[in-house]
Amino acid sequence: MLRDRAIEGEMNMSSEPPTLHSRRNLNLRFNVPISKTAQFWSSLKEGKFVTTKCRECGEVSFPPQTDCPRCMSQSFEWVDLGTDAELVTFTHVQVTPTSFVDRDPYLVGICKLGPGVKVLAWIEGASLEQLAPGMKLRLEARNDAGSSYYVFVPA
Ligand SMILES: [Zn+2]
Repeated sequence: MLRDRAIEGEMNMSSEPPTLHSRRNLNLRFNVPISKTAQFWSSLKEGKFVTTKCRECGEVSFPPQTDCPRCMSQSFEWVDLGTDAELVTFTHVQVTPTSFVDRDPYLVGICKLGPGVKVLAWIEGASLEQLAPGMKLRLEARNDAGSSYYVFVPA
């Protein structure tokens, strides 16, 4: 038992502060409380993309924030960002993290939506050669096996 809990790794003493590099893969599964932002997920199931807007200072946040990151107000409303997106930047992930090891290399992009909100998501239906900053994409909701997520696809 004690051995199971032992951290297998090596110490890196060459930098300050010293760091420990584990040799084990770390598999995590977690539940995130979403009671205050449940509207985002229920809207996503209907194909709508909404986020929070602060009633005090007007800050539009993504991901949805129930405490305004600018003025800390807890008064917010939901706004529809639409699905029209403009590609800002992108990358081709060829060395996948452990949690996506069963996937082929994939494309990830950051797009501007609505009032300039930047959203990170996978890009599907386009090749690396087809992508360019400024390209028009569309955010598409996906509901798969009880899990909701979103991807960018060509407009
Ligand atoms: Zn605010």
